[in-house]
Amino acid sequence: MPDLPVSELLDLDRRHVWHPYGPMPGRQEPLVVESASGVRLTIAGEPDELVDGMSSWWSAIHGYNHPVLNDAAREQLGRMSHVMFGGLTHEPAVRLAKRLVDMSPNGLEHVFLADSGSVSVEVAVKMCLQYWRSLGRPAKQRLLTWRGGYHGDTWQPMSVCDPEGGMHELWQGVLPRQVFADPPPVAYEESYADHLRSLIERHADELAAVIVEPVVQGAGGMRFHSPGYLRVLREACDAYGVLLVFDEIATGFGRTGALFAADHAGVTPDVMCLGKALTGGYMTMAATLCTSRVAEGISRGEVPVLAHGPTFMGNPLAAAVACASIDLLLGQDWQTEIKRIETGLREGLAPASELPGVRDVRVLGAIGVVQLDHDVDMATATRAAVREGVWLRPFRDLVYTMPPYVTGDADVARIARAVCAAAREG
Ligand code: PMP
Repeated sequence: MPDLPVSELLDLDRRHVWHPYGPMPGRQEPLVVESASGVRLTIAGEPDELVDGMSSWWSAIHGYNHPVLNDAAREQLGRMSHVMFGGLTHEPAVRLAKRLVDMSPNGLEHVFLADSGSVSVEVAVKMCLQYWRSLGRPAKQRLLTWRGGYHGDTWQPMSVCDPEGGMHELWQGVLPRQVFADPPPVAYEESYADHLRSLIERHADELAAVIVEPVVQGAGGMRFHSPGYLRVLREACDAYGVLLVFDEIATGFGRTGALFAADHAGVTPDVMCLGKALTGGYMTMAATLCTSRVAEGISRGEVPVLAHGPTFMGNPLAAAVACASIDLLLGQDWQTEIKRIETGLREGLAPASELPGVRDVRVLGAIGVVQLDHDVDMATATRAAVREGVWLRPFRDLVYTMPPYVTGDADVARIARAVCAAAREG
């Protein structure tokens, strides 16, 4: 395929291509990425590569063009790239399910291989609602979450996103009406734990499940909170007969310093959603795991099947790469790598707390956040980062980074400098 001149490509892009949350008011022209390798993106017309501070939204944990993941994709491509999953099964999907069951919190036994994070949340919600229907409790169909969350852009996930965050405000009123708790405080506070307990008790008759992002609320505001609340949720859900869903799509696979954020609290949810880093960012695949209690409950119902079956369910190519990505992660001392990045981000972002307009600087695992007291000008902040040789995607009042785990110390320092520059200028 001959290369299009950049100006023509951008012109066609402008005329025909939707981008996430686009077109944005006062939008900035996208950069044209020509290739990506290791932690670097090659941008058309830019003399120097950019260090990736975003891991393509939490996903490319091993960096790009990784020889092991490339080999896994190539080898699987020679066998089959896709076959339908209804009535057929195959080794990549079965292997992947077994790996996920083995590595995830004890008790999660059944795996639905979905094709995107949002779909895995839809499936999780369906599982919970159907579980209670099967048990003759159809009134239990609402969800409880805390404000400030983000769970995806399809219908049920949108209903548990932050209702005031702006992302889905347009749809309030037509989305399913869910129950919202206040956002979790950073530190453990008994009064907030009581707030959670009393809401769950009060709404228990209509609640199918509590769904939360454990420890880190990502796209809804990059907030961290005490793992202690996960134990409170587990106890209250058990006490009042409500299922517990952890959305670990962003936090899974080591990002917070534990393999799963649930591990910080030693809690097993009834249902857990995974995505993003599942395939090392190579392919679109996500997973919804559940316990035998949930799976068996569903199978005892009047309709004993989980009526969900996307065309690309269990995609062998994605499953093979996911297995390779998990083996790559678990085959190394990933805790030390995350700690190393955490230390680098802590040191590098410390000067940001002295900048005017900075409200908070926080780091957890391989996640660094600078929160401002105003919304950033995205174009200006992005340009400031690019000038430092780094790709970032600031939004709202946040300049943040979640670099690939293979980012070397000098590049971590460079990313931190870029975050500071974007916070200063944006
Ligand atoms: N849940 C969480 C916590 C997420 O961060 C995201 C993606 N930002 C999603 C769900 C939705 O995943 P996807 O974009 O793959 O549909």
